[in-house]
Amino acid sequence: MAQGVETVADRDRTRLLRLLRVIDDPVDAPEPRLHRFLAGLAEVFTAEITALVHTDALGWEVITAWGFPETEERRLPPLPGADDFLTGRGPGVWECAGDRPMPVAGIEVRAAACARLDPEAPAGPALVVLRSRPGPFEASEVETLRTVAARWRSAVREEERRDAMERLAHVGPRFARHRTLDPLLDAALAELTALTGAEAACALTVRDGVAEVRREHGPSLHGPWPRALDRLMAAPAARQGRAWVCPDLFDVARDVRGREPAWVRSLACLPVLQDGAPVILLYAGHSHPGWFSRPGIEAASVLAGWLGPALANVGLHQHLSQTEGRLRELTDELGRQATHDPLTGLANRELARQALERGLASNAAGMVGLLFCDLDKFKAINDRLGHEAGDELLREVATRLAGCLRTGDVLARLGGDEFIIVLPVVADLVALTQIGRRVLQTLDEPFVLRGESVRVGASIGGVMSEREPGRDRAVDLLRDADAAMYAAKNRGRGRVEVFDRFTAQRAVDRLRLREDLLTALDAGEMELHYQPIVDLDDERVTGFEALLRWNHASLGRISPADFIPMAEETGAITAIGDWVLAEACRRLAQWHAEFGAVLSMAVNVSAVQLLDPGFAQRCIRTIRATGLSNRHVWLEVTENIEVTSQLIDQLRMLRDVGVRVAMDDFGMSYSNLGYLKHLPVERLKIDQSFVAGLGAATADGIDRGIVRAILAIAESAGMSVVAEGVETEEQRQVLRDLGCHRGQGFLFARPMPAEDADALLAEATNLLTEAAEAAVGRLAG
Ligand code: C2E
Ligand code: MG
Ligand code: MG
Repeated sequence: MAQGVETVADRDRTRLLRLLRVIDDPVDAPEPRLHRFLAGLAEVFTAEITALVHTDALGWEVITAWGFPETEERRLPPLPGADDFLTGRGPGVWECAGDRPMPVAGIEVRAAACARLDPEAPAGPALVVLRSRPGPFEASEVETLRTVAARWRSAVREEERRDAMERLAHVGPRFARHRTLDPLLDAALAELTALTGAEAACALTVRDGVAEVRREHGPSLHGPWPRALDRLMAAPAARQGRAWVCPDLFDVARDVRGREPAWVRSLACLPVLQDGAPVILLYAGHSHPGWFSRPGIEAASVLAGWLGPALANVGLHQHLSQTEGRLRELTDELGRQATHDPLTGLANRELARQALERGLASNAAGMVGLLFCDLDKFKAINDRLGHEAGDELLREVATRLAGCLRTGDVLARLGGDEFIIVLPVVADLVALTQIGRRVLQTLDEPFVLRGESVRVGASIGGVMSEREPGRDRAVDLLRDADAAMYAAKNRGRGRVEVFDRFTAQRAVDRLRLREDLLTALDAGEMELHYQPIVDLDDERVTGFEALLRWNHASLGRISPADFIPMAEETGAITAIGDWVLAEACRRLAQWHAEFGAVLSMAVNVSAVQLLDPGFAQRCIRTIRATGLSNRHVWLEVTENIEVTSQLIDQLRMLRDVGVRVAMDDFGMSYSNLGYLKHLPVERLKIDQSFVAGLGAATADGIDRGIVRAILAIAESAGMSVVAEGVETEEQRQVLRDLGCHRGQGFLFARPMPAEDADALLAEATNLLTEAAEAAVGRLAG
C-alpha cells in the first residue's frame, strides 16, 4: 500500500518534472508548447480541462485551453466564491469544490483551481484547472499550481524578452534607412504591436505643446485630436522620457481619461525625445486589462529609443533635400543667367549662336536664316526719358519681336538695342525679307513710355546660308548679319537689307574663275574634244563637232556650259573663240591630209562673237590659213541669239564664201521661228531633249511630233538636219524612220581628245572620199 502511495507520488513528481521541462523548453514554438504545457498540467492534476485564461471582474475568458472544445463559449461559467479573486482583492490563487457538479463544456466539474501568472496584478492571465473527480484540490496541489504559473510566467517573459531583443537588434538599422517621416512611423507602429502584442497603436506628433495623431496601426485608439500635451495622462511621464502604462482604463475616472474608445482597456505610451522634449508619442492599446507586460514595455522603450536617432536622420534628409533643391535652383538660375539676358529674359548671344549651330547642322529642308535688328532711335530716347524708360522700351520691343516668331525661331538680345532672330528654316531670300519687314512693321507702331508716345524704328540686316555644320560658320553668319544691318542703316534706316551668303560665296568663286579664264588660254588649259557626227544609216563618220574643255589648274575640268557664259561676260570669248576655230580647222586639215577623206568640222560660235564686226573676216582668214575649203566648216549658232542686221550681214558674208551655218539646239526657243527666214542657215540640229524623248513611251507622241515638224521645216527650207544626243539604238531607229539621217551622240561616240579621234579615223573603213563627195554633191557634209 505504502509502495502504492509512493508510486503515485513518484509518478506525479515525474509528470511535474516533465511539465517543467516543457515550460523551460526554449526551442519549441510557443503555441504547441502551450498546448503541451496545458496537456501536462491536466495529467499532473488528473484534470479534464486546463486553460490559460484572462481574468477580470467579469470572469474568466479562455485564451487557450486543453479539453475545451473550440466551438464552446470562450467564457467560463461563473464559479462559486471567485468574486474576491476576480476583482483582485484576494490572493493570486483560488480553488473551489462542491458536491454539486458544475457543467463546463460537457464535463461535470466538481473542483476548480486558478492561479494568476502575476499574483500582484489585480487582473490578467491565469491558469485554470477543472476536474470532475470529487473532493477539493489539496493544499500541495494549489501550491504546485501557483509555482507552475509563476514558472510559466517567467518562462514566457524570458521568451518575450528574447524575441524582443532579437527584433530590436534589426530595428535600428532598418529605421536608419528611412528618409521620410510617415513610413518610419508606420514601421515603428508595426514593431510596437509585435513587441507588445497590442491590438492597436498610433503615433502622435507633439509640436508647440500640442499633440496630434499622425499615423495609426489597427483600430483607432483615440478620439478627436489635436489635444494639448498637458491634458494627456501620459504627459508627466512623457516629459521625463519614461514609459507610461495604464493597466485598466476602467479604473480611471472618465473625465481624466479623455476620449479613448470603450474597447480599450490597457493603454501604454512611449515617448520619443529630441533635445530633452517629447516630439513623438507612441501609444499601444489592448482590449484586455493588464495586457502589457514589463518586458514588452521595456522592449517598446528600447524601440522608442531607436526612433530618436532615426527621426533625426529623417530631419537631416529633409534638410539635405531642401538644400539640394535650393542648390539645384541656384545652379539653374546661374545657367539661365549665363545664357539669358537679365533685362528681357531673352536668349543671349551664346544661346543664339548655339541655336544657329544646331540649325546649320540639321538636315531639314531649306536654308538657315538670321535677322539682325538694331533700333534706330534708342539712344535718344534713353537720354531723354532716362534709363528706366529705356529698359521698359527694350522689354516692350522684346515682347513685340517675340510676336513675330514662328515655331522653332529663336529671339535673342545681344546687348544694348541689338536683337537677333535665328530662323532655323527659311525658304529663300524673299521669305527672309518678308519676315524682316514684318519685324519692322511691329516696331513701327508707337510705344507708350511714361505716358508719352514715342517711335523708335529699326534697321534690319538679314543673312541666309546653306546648311553646313561648324562653329565658325555660325560666327561668320553673325558677323555678316551685323554687316548687313549696317548696310541697312547706311542706306537710310528703317529698312531690311538681306544678303545671301551662299550666293555671295558663289559670286566670289565666279569672280576668281573669271579672272582665271582670262589667262586660261595662255596657260594652255584649254583643249578641244571632238565628237563624231555620223550617218545614221551606216554609222559612217561624216564630220566632227569641236567641243571646248577647260582643264583648270586647281579645280579640274570645268564644263563649257559653266564657263562659256562667263567668257561671254568678260569678253574672253573673242580670243577663246578665235583659238577654237583655228585649232579645229588645223585639226581638220591634218585629218584631211592624213586620211584623204572628206570630213566637216562644226564649231560652236557664241552670240557675243557674232557681235564683233570683224568676226566674219577673221573667220575667213583663219580657215584660209589652214588651207581648208570653207565649205567643210560649219558654224553652230544657237537659236536664242538676237537677230540684228549686223548679225545677218556677218553670216551672209560667211555664207557667200562657202562657210556654212547650223542652227544649234533647235526647237528650244519656239518663239523665234520667224528669223529662220532671214538667216542663211543650212542645217538644223535637233535639240537633244527631243531626241531623249523619242524612245520613252510616255513622251513619245509629243517628241516624235516635234522632230517630225523640224524635219518638215528643214525640208521645205532646203536644210539638212542633225539629231543631237542620240543615246539608244531605239532613238536612232525612230529618227531614221522619220527621215533624219545625221546624228551625234553617246550611242556612236562621246566627245574625245584629238588623239582618240585620230585612232577612230584610222580604223574607219567607210569614210567619204573627195571623189565620192563630188558625186553625191554639196549636201553630203
Ligand atoms: P552643244 O553645242 O549643243 O553640244 C552638244 C553637247 O551635248 C556637248 O556638251 C556634248 O558633250 C553633249 N552630248 C553629245 N552627245 C550626247 C549624248 O548622247 N547625250 C548627252 N546627254 N549629251 C551629249 P558639252 O561638251 O558639255 O557642251 C555644252 C555646250 O557648250 C555646247 O552645246 C555648246 O553650246 C557649248 N560649247 C562647247 N564648246 C564650245 C565652244 O568652243 N564655243 C562656244 N561658244 N560654245 C561651246
Ligand atoms: Mg553645238
Ligand atoms: Mg546642241
